[in-house]
Amino acid sequence: MKRINILDSSISNLIAAGEIVYDPSCVVKELIENSIDAAAKRISIEITSGGTKMIKVSDDGHGIYRDDIIDAFKCHATSKIQKIDQINKISSLGFRGEALHCISRVSKIEVKTKTSEENIGTHLKIVGGTFGKISDIGAKIGTTICVNDLFYNTPARMKFLKKESIESAKISSLIDKLSLSHPEIFFKFIKDGKVSFCSAGDGKISSALYCVFGKDYFDGSMKINFKAENLKISGFVSKPENARPGKKIQIFFVNGRYVKCKLISNALEDAFKNYMMVGKSPYCVFYIEVPFDSVDVNVHPAKTEIKFSNEQKISDAIYKCVKETIEFENVKKLEKYVAPFKNIKKEKTYYENINDNSMVLNDSAELFSDDSKINLNFENYKKLIYPKEKENIQNETFDTIELKEKSDLIGPPKEVFMNKSLRKNFKLIGEIFSCYIILQCKDSIIIVDKHAAHERIIFEKIRNKAKYYDSQILIKPICVSLEKQEYVVAIENKELFSKSGYEIEDFGEGNIIVRSAPMYEQYDQIKNSIIEISNYISNNRKTTETKKLDWIYQNIACKSAIKAKAKTSIEEIAKLIQDLINNPKIAYCPHGRPIYIIVNKNSIEKRFKRL
Ligand code: ADP
Ligand code: MG
Repeated sequence: MKRINILDSSISNLIAAGEIVYDPSCVVKELIENSIDAAAKRISIEITSGGTKMIKVSDDGHGIYRDDIIDAFKCHATSKIQKIDQINKISSLGFRGEALHCISRVSKIEVKTKTSEENIGTHLKIVGGTFGKISDIGAKIGTTICVNDLFYNTPARMKFLKKESIESAKISSLIDKLSLSHPEIFFKFIKDGKVSFCSAGDGKISSALYCVFGKDYFDGSMKINFKAENLKISGFVSKPENARPGKKIQIFFVNGRYVKCKLISNALEDAFKNYMMVGKSPYCVFYIEVPFDSVDVNVHPAKTEIKFSNEQKISDAIYKCVKETIEFENVKKLEKYVAPFKNIKKEKTYYENINDNSMVLNDSAELFSDDSKINLNFENYKKLIYPKEKENIQNETFDTIELKEKSDLIGPPKEVFMNKSLRKNFKLIGEIFSCYIILQCKDSIIIVDKHAAHERIIFEKIRNKAKYYDSQILIKPICVSLEKQEYVVAIENKELFSKSGYEIEDFGEGNIIVRSAPMYEQYDQIKNSIIEISNYISNNRKTTETKKLDWIYQNIACKSAIKAKAKTSIEEIAKLIQDLINNPKIAYCPHGRPIYIIVNKNSIEKRFKRL
């Protein structure tokens, strides 16, 4: 049996360092936070190879005295707290005094710094925790720390790193957050020799939001402002109609510190309930200010999780101010729509069209059967849809439908649409609840879910044509801003997008350009689809390509299908029923919900006690 062995302190220190410094982005985070604590106004961050080769952070902060430089890299060396009771009133970002120490143990560091009180700069190299000689160097006031070959002496930690592109994306999203929390600081991010991001640094939250997310997000958001005793909430939140599918972009700062917080997120989403489509989430950037001693930031070593001493108060405040902002926005919007009608005499048709969800029969209707396009007048059209109209439907002789189960509502047991005679001998009764199409047969009625049916029909069409995909070139290409990881995934999966009918191109800085899209998709849906697909791929990297493609086809079909509750013209309904008849094998939508149910005449009569 192996005996217990006390680890050599150099090994245990290395392990501890690896726990605190676990990837390039957390090195960048610690270095930038030190610059912010040093009152820097300009911070430049440069990385190569996802930060594994080099991370260089330069600032114009107050610098480090030559006499303190060695101490800065010693364990638990900090200039930020002197006494234990200060821990509870921390306002600076770092205070554990372990970041520089840990980073220096697992990399090769070079520091250049100068304070305003010194005439000459200080230069120092530290390799794997071993200090070199301090020397003079020409330098401006401020500090530059260059971290080379991160984890060169901890290969196990190195193995855990993700692809360079993903590590870069993490750093870039970190810089986004820091520039949002510090709009007064000018940030510049250089990635592999190219400037990848610059913040405005003009002190305005709106400028920071614009720089980080771009025009779309900015235009689609509402300002939040709330003040109560000991609590201030400001920032931006998406308008309900601009909520996004996919990865949540909800950024919270509490007293200037970026935090993850379920409490805030839940309150935000609760406020959006009933104003927003299911499956989407609002995006936001919130700045919350509370007294320093009413939050505990020491819940998690990375300091990203916090605990409020009065959770209910925070949650209520978020809920209230978001809900009020949404309602205010809705009132504004309504007024815009109502205003033009206020002084106009009410036109009968306008009002009736809006309220009348029932079908309107046109004099002429167009029917498409397979490839041919037939123009029909109403009489012919009726003949096609009600083939036995002229004869009395009750007196017709029908094949009896054999149903396997004897319940009131019987879903088809197999994927076989109504039998041949049934398909030929039905009467279209109409549409109910703007959702279901009713067909009458001799001894049953068929209730068709128009959305589910249409969705499956489109899905079949897409899947059958997948090899020579029906794609439309967009006259106006669409620019989509993606969240950092979704962006990386989209670029890496251009091929898969192309197989689904989307031609996309990298447009840099988290943006992609869509040049063509599937034929069935509506223009205003394309952006959402790209976001959803990128998000899906990023969460299902290991899924097979066929499965991914099926998911994408389903997604397109669902979006392109007639919506339940939407008004559908008689032509569209006729076309839908025609398609169903032409595809006798389908009975379920791609998500597995039934397309139609059959209600037996017998069961109706039983309920009326006729039988
Ligand atoms: P902490 O930030 O928790 O104090 P660190 O290990 O990150 O611990 O830094 C140690 C000390 O080094 C800081 O307390 C600060 O005095 C000094 N320091 C680090 N980076 C900078 C910087 N960019 N400018 C000025 N001082 C710095
Ligand atoms: Mg620090």
